[in-house]
Amino acid sequence: MKDIEIGQLIAKEKERQLTHIELIASENFVSDDILEAAGSILTNKYAEGYPSKRYYGGCEYIDQIETIAIERAKKLFNAEHANVQPHSGSQANMGVYQAILNHGDVVLGMDLSAGGHLTHGHPLSFSGINYEFHSYKVDPITECIDYDEVRNVALKYKPKLIVCGASSYPRFIDFKKFKEIADEVGAYLMVDMAHIAGLVAVGLHPSPVPYADFVTSTTHKTLRGPRAGLILCKEKYKDLLDKRIFPGIQGGPLEHIIAAKAICFKEAMNVDFKVYQKQVLDNVQALIKSLKEEGFRIVSGGSDNHLLLVDVKKSCGITGKKAETILDTINITCNKNSIPFDQEKPAYCSGIRLGSAAMTTRGFNCDDFYKVGKIIAKCLKNIDDKKLHEELKQEVLSLVKDKPLHK
Ligand code: PLP
Repeated sequence: MKDIEIGQLIAKEKERQLTHIELIASENFVSDDILEAAGSILTNKYAEGYPSKRYYGGCEYIDQIETIAIERAKKLFNAEHANVQPHSGSQANMGVYQAILNHGDVVLGMDLSAGGHLTHGHPLSFSGINYEFHSYKVDPITECIDYDEVRNVALKYKPKLIVCGASSYPRFIDFKKFKEIADEVGAYLMVDMAHIAGLVAVGLHPSPVPYADFVTSTTHKTLRGPRAGLILCKEKYKDLLDKRIFPGIQGGPLEHIIAAKAICFKEAMNVDFKVYQKQVLDNVQALIKSLKEEGFRIVSGGSDNHLLLVDVKKSCGITGKKAETILDTINITCNKNSIPFDQEKPAYCSGIRLGSAAMTTRGFNCDDFYKVGKIIAKCLKNIDDKKLHEELKQEVLSLVKDKPLHK
């Protein structure tokens, strides 16, 4: 690369990725094919509009690529329509809101501290600014969604839209129950499956597609594609939705990323991908077993998906922020996270969120994840023992040695 400054930083970031255990639940490592498409000459092309209805010339190959991406997305998730143009998960959500809501309309979403995402009504997000969001939480004892409470809140506020799906919820979500509640109050149902899309693709999490009017997603978490968004919907909403994405909220689509999404959807149809997702689930269970043996409290007692929340405040008296910082010094990357009914401020949090998708891609198995649990426990129980931390860092380095980012 001619730009030495940026080239060196990319090289350093690659080295960081290679030498750390990546446990951020929303990250993953893409295949070489996806990387190649995302960095390809397709980035040169303007293609406002949709296949065969563009506002620019020279789109004959772009049209084919985007059509393939759309058809593969529909096939993978058994959906009637797919829009593959959202640049991100947030824009996918914005596109749906803009398609069916007016400014100030009432919407129901999951509370952020219970696991919801910023775009599900946080006051600082466009969602909370433009619409009147109300929220449901989780049950204080089970820390799982209480569908009776969701129904009660829905009956109280009569939302035009109910949003479900989450950023840090470790349990199965019952989309059928959400649909029944939405029908009872006459609301649309949108499922944001960003985190679990890979599991849904292979049938290891129930699919929201039969129940939701709109399903939004990112493509870069468990789905293991490029950093981007996706929307699936019923055929009857196709024109409404497509118009809201372009020209509604976006201009030229990122066709290099759309090509990478097309490859991602094809990879997700391979039998290998189901084997991978099964390993993701098994690895989370191994990590939970290891941490529980060390006396750590796991929010809701466990996990049904690729992530878990550890209550580090209760388990070892430190905040999530402190845990995140210390783990980083031994080359384990994760993020602080609020836990249900958290008493700490969002800048500190009582928990950390751990996910298995990224390291499973790098070839970690249950033994490795069990060891990772022990390393985390030793580190967080001895936060001032620098000598021990150095030993733990060496253990991390030996675990990641000879493990490529993506095979
Ligand atoms: N929806 C959920 C459930 C998420 O977890 C995220 C990101 O973490 C998003 C939407 C937003 O995705 P993006 O960061 O691509 O805007």
